Amino acid sequence: MLNQADFATKNLPTWCPGCGDFGIFAALKMALVELGLGPKEAVFVFGIGCHGNMFNAFRAINFEGLHGRPLPVASGIKMANHKLPVFAVSGDGDALGEGGNHFIHACRRNHDITYLIHDNQVYGLTTGQTSPTSPKGFKSKSNPDGSIDYPLNPLTLALSAGASFVARGYAGDIPHLSNLIVKAYQHKGFSVLDILQPCVTFNHINTYQTYRQTIYKIEDSYVPNDKIRAFEKATEWERTGKVPLGVFYEENKNTYEDDIEQIKTIPLALQSNNPTKTEELMAEFA
Ligand code: SF4
Ligand code: MG
Repeated sequence: MLNQADFATKNLPTWCPGCGDFGIFAALKMALVELGLGPKEAVFVFGIGCHGNMFNAFRAINFEGLHGRPLPVASGIKMANHKLPVFAVSGDGDALGEGGNHFIHACRRNHDITYLIHDNQVYGLTTGQTSPTSPKGFKSKSNPDGSIDYPLNPLTLALSAGASFVARGYAGDIPHLSNLIVKAYQHKGFSVLDILQPCVTFNHINTYQTYRQTIYKIEDSYVPNDKIRAFEKATEWERTGKVPLGVFYEENKNTYEDDIEQIKTIPLALQSNNPTKTEELMAEFA
């Protein structure tokens, strides 16, 4: 029977003690066990950043892309074999800075990919610079007097760009986060899960202590099928200081792969390469 130890390698993560990435890694393995997805049954594409350190300690089919580029790679894998479960994993800088353009277009294309964003509101791997989600006034090596930029809201960006599943989790609540990963995976379409991840070394504003006072789980009575209501929920943090966790929005619509006639029934990777047809095709252009 599948268990979390099945995902272990001989390497341990080298995150700082107390880093929120430990919680995300634990929640991910818990979710995979619950889903019955073994190390050879799904593909994980990482970007560059502290989150990518998971790659070394995670026995799975892994690919580490360039900074900000996990989504193009994940989309390519999905196009080649859309029956294969595909996860993409990024940090906030990776997803919304270097990869911001890819993020918008993956949302609107609605590839069936589960996207986990380790959102610690700072560039941690490069030793602490302001990122697209850093709060205004955030002091870092790149803005010693405090950032004058307004932060980007990953949830409202995902909603407006057309993502069909939008949720927020917290690295400090592993069972709840694991449950959100399961839901994000089970959704057919592009699932964005923004995960609040304390960076104990470089983010002294949003810490375990502050989150303990500000986060709450979205009420059971909330039905995530209304985009206007989802925008309202997704802007609550900036309007009230309260930080809702859970599923903000879910919509069933065709995925990108559903709408490509040539692959929608048989994935490209499983189609036979008929040389006769290839020759006929080439002859047409001769
Ligand atoms: Fe985690 Fe921050 Fe350390 Fe990176 S720098 S490993 S995000 S605590
Ligand atoms: Mg970061």
